[in-house]
Amino acid sequence: MTIPRQFNNVVYRHPTQVNGKKSNIIDHMSILETKLRNEIVRTARQIAQNGLSRSSDGNLSARLSENRILITPAGAYKAWLQPDQIVQIDLDGNLCSRLSSNQPSSEYLMHLAVYRHRPDVKAVIHAHPPLAVALTLIGQPFPSDLVPEGLTALGDVPTVPYARPGTAQMGEQLLPYLANHDVLLLDHHGSLTVGKTLEEALIKLERLEAIAQLWMLARKVGELLPLPEIERAALRGSLSAS
Ligand SMILES: [Zn+2]
Repeated sequence: MTIPRQFNNVVYRHPTQVNGKKSNIIDHMSILETKLRNEIVRTARQIAQNGLSRSSDGNLSARLSENRILITPAGAYKAWLQPDQIVQIDLDGNLCSRLSSNQPSSEYLMHLAVYRHRPDVKAVIHAHPPLAVALTLIGQPFPSDLVPEGLTALGDVPTVPYARPGTAQMGEQLLPYLANHDVLLLDHHGSLTVGKTLEEALIKLERLEAIAQLWMLARKVGELLPLPEIERAALRGSLSAS
């Protein structure tokens, strides 16, 4: 008997567990799928709670297998997301869900571009963090070198040229940046953070917004004083060595 995973009072039981119909292969898959569905929900709620995406904005996904992902559905209000709303698709974009009749997020092509080109990536978060996105509205490059954690944990954060949300062009625009960056800003739109886990991608997203906030606070009260160049170079080196 498999045990339902529980995170922050979110419990999801796969129908095969509820009905007591078991097969070892399905149960094995359902444990991972159940775990990832719960993690996506927990992460989506955290993003909503922290104001990093509002309304139905943003979308999250996690790699279920080499060729399949779980992704949030189109139009869902993320703070109220439920595990059974999450959609399973393959890397060609075909629906494979056994559970959900929802359609995948309209921005699924962007997620697929990441998974196709970065086999190491297991989780993708696209959010609309207001302060980080505001930088793109004024053409301000992201100030990774403002504080040490920007250089050591995020590295350089490029701003990807604008592409209309939901179009294939969005995924194509990412391609030149994907190989060397885990954190991207999308011009006049949002952010993209990737990682080996949803937690890793979420930590990068929160850090991105925190540094954008610091930049704005500092700009209000005075002139920005950069870290010494020798220190910035050393911190950049520690990122590439990690
Ligand atoms: Zn978006």
